[in-house]
Amino acid sequence: MPGLYIHIPFCRSKCRYCDFTSYPGKIGYAEAYMACVYKEMKLRAPELQNKEFDSIYFGGGTPSLLDAKWISGCMNRLRECYSISSDAEVTIEMNPGTVDLNKIAAYKKAGINRFSIGLQSSKNRILEEIGRCHTAKDFLNACQWIGKGNKSADILIGLKDQSWEDIQQTIDYAVSGGVSHISMYALTPEEDTPIYTDYLNGELPDEDTVADFYDQAKTYLSSLGFSRYEVSNFAKRGFESRHNWNYWRRGEYVGFGVAACSFFGNRRFTNTRDLDEYIKCILTDHYPVVADDLLSEEDAKFETVMLALRTAVGLDLIKYRKQFGTDFFVDFHSAIQKNSAYLEWSDNSIKIRDEYLYVQNTIIIDFLQI
Ligand code: SF4
Repeated sequence: MPGLYIHIPFCRSKCRYCDFTSYPGKIGYAEAYMACVYKEMKLRAPELQNKEFDSIYFGGGTPSLLDAKWISGCMNRLRECYSISSDAEVTIEMNPGTVDLNKIAAYKKAGINRFSIGLQSSKNRILEEIGRCHTAKDFLNACQWIGKGNKSADILIGLKDQSWEDIQQTIDYAVSGGVSHISMYALTPEEDTPIYTDYLNGELPDEDTVADFYDQAKTYLSSLGFSRYEVSNFAKRGFESRHNWNYWRRGEYVGFGVAACSFFGNRRFTNTRDLDEYIKCILTDHYPVVADDLLSEEDAKFETVMLALRTAVGLDLIKYRKQFGTDFFVDFHSAIQKNSAYLEWSDNSIKIRDEYLYVQNTIIIDFLQI
């Protein structure tokens, strides 16, 4: 089933590695922005009346920086405008330095049933270095306030002066908070971020070191009962993120807010990244869309393959044949030949071998030449 996404672009400050669409110091825009998000939800609703949604995701930015009334307001508006499954997975991304017991109680009351918490590291020295506005202890407090709820932690590897012991302790710390899901991302030093200077100065661990950290962490997580189901995502059985699965299966989704993307009816829509422009468009009854692409059959095939090969289960060959009426091995003959050492397949599926999943980008690129 399709999913709904709401982008909340406000942050308390800018982390040194961040290139997401987020606006530190603009929380004063919250009321005007959320009024526009509500209006966008209403604008889109008529063309989506026949769809039922089984996941909702508040991402950012820092959704938890907002007063909780806006999150419950969004939930009310979504329920008014769309058909939402009674057992929908509803996730909110949280910066642990921006929540308290009352806020979490209000989220639960609004229907949030999954909490994705940005821990990044259990070392305060590292958190300070990368510009996070919270301490490790804030993470444990947030976990305690959430209680038995479904919790996920984001952690980062490849940071300056980070050792394998730091990463292992961070995993232990996340587990001590009772999480059942961990997203582990390798830092990508983007050119327009302050951390890129550290990268240029050779202060970040090199690619081979990060790949070793990743392998060690994967093995360690597995020993703790967390299976890798996608290159950066690990979960205890039954706690895989429904919202993310829908995305990797190339399911439909509808996004609201600045920089949000939508994919339905074989079209991909991208909203403007400019906060003022977003507000202006909505206030004048225009969609804030800056790109509207009708996808060709070739695009659809490549996207299906690219997304599926990021997952541990890989691509379902029978579904592929059913969807496109062609054979995957014929469509991608040369890419398969070139990468056969990295792939494994059966009659029903094909996937990247476990030991090469971390470097899937370099393999998947060959599948672009359909
Ligand atoms: S909290 Fe997240 S979105 Fe905000 S600046 Fe930090 S990394 Fe970026």
